[in-house]
Amino acid sequence: MTTFLTEVPTLEDNWRAIILFGKNTASYKFALGQALLSLGKTQDDLVRLDELALPYARALCDHLQKAPKQGTFEKSTFLRECQKRIDGEYTDEQLRDATVKHGFGDVLDAFHNLGRGQESVRFFLKEQRPTKGIRLTSEFYRLANEGVASDLEQEVEGRWRLVETAWEAGVAVPLIEPEDRGEKLIALFGDEQDGLTVRRRVAVTSSRNALNGYQKGHCFHCFAQIGITPGGSGLADVDHVFPHALGPLLPGNVNGVWNLVLACRECNRGASGKFDLVPALQLVQRLHTRNEFLIGSKHPLGETIVRQTGKTPSARAGFLQKAFNQARAARIAVWTPLHRADPVF
Ligand SMILES: [Zn+2]
Repeated sequence: MTTFLTEVPTLEDNWRAIILFGKNTASYKFALGQALLSLGKTQDDLVRLDELALPYARALCDHLQKAPKQGTFEKSTFLRECQKRIDGEYTDEQLRDATVKHGFGDVLDAFHNLGRGQESVRFFLKEQRPTKGIRLTSEFYRLANEGVASDLEQEVEGRWRLVETAWEAGVAVPLIEPEDRGEKLIALFGDEQDGLTVRRRVAVTSSRNALNGYQKGHCFHCFAQIGITPGGSGLADVDHVFPHALGPLLPGNVNGVWNLVLACRECNRGASGKFDLVPALQLVQRLHTRNEFLIGSKHPLGETIVRQTGKTPSARAGFLQKAFNQARAARIAVWTPLHRADPVF
């Protein structure tokens, strides 16, 4: 039996996942990221909020000057305080005091949040005593001193600008910068709008009946019963095991049948659903078994899977392992299904 392996994501992977994912409702995370990287070489691991305040607020002021929209909401108190510094109404000292008072709100707690209750490696801890601030972790020093900090700074800046452009245009934030994309991405990101590429999901629901041949009315992830009759109750979702949102970062075409299964709504989009998280290794193993079953049973979809993922079982396992490694490195957070029924395949 093929064994799939998990690698520990690097510190850079963790950092990039913080910058790339998360809610993207405001730019504070980017400003904090830049402020942290600018502290990189300092000796003291305890950084008081009044020390962190100016590098953090200056990063926001720089951006606010060029891009007035720094969130998906109306300007916050903190952003209005930053504007006063830009307009010359505040000195640096006043900006610093205002930042300590209004600027940190949720950002210190939210920084490591990768969504759905999962966290990245911690680059700092919050400190309340003797004075409010953060304590940089050894992981932070390793990241900052590995000689790639300047690359990381540029990446934060690039990501920040991309998010601003999307907010300005009122479109969804794309996962990848348009200029980074190869042909694969053009296929996935069909529509162009105002120079921005908007993600468009390819219709995948036509494969529902075919996929049910293997799953026989059970969710791929939790084995709960699912329906396959359109209009009937509990109609299954066609689910991407490797999330559609991660498509640009994966080998092959994320919409290929190799990656499609039937899932109950809870697993696909319920309160504890998978959304854009990385499938647990057991699901990758299960997907491999499913794909090999379709190939071995001469199912017409089997040929398609061979074309999409490789000619031999080991090549196909290698393909899935690569997909897992790349998804994990990019997204970090892994999803494991709840146990709702006994395994049936
Ligand atoms: Zn399920």
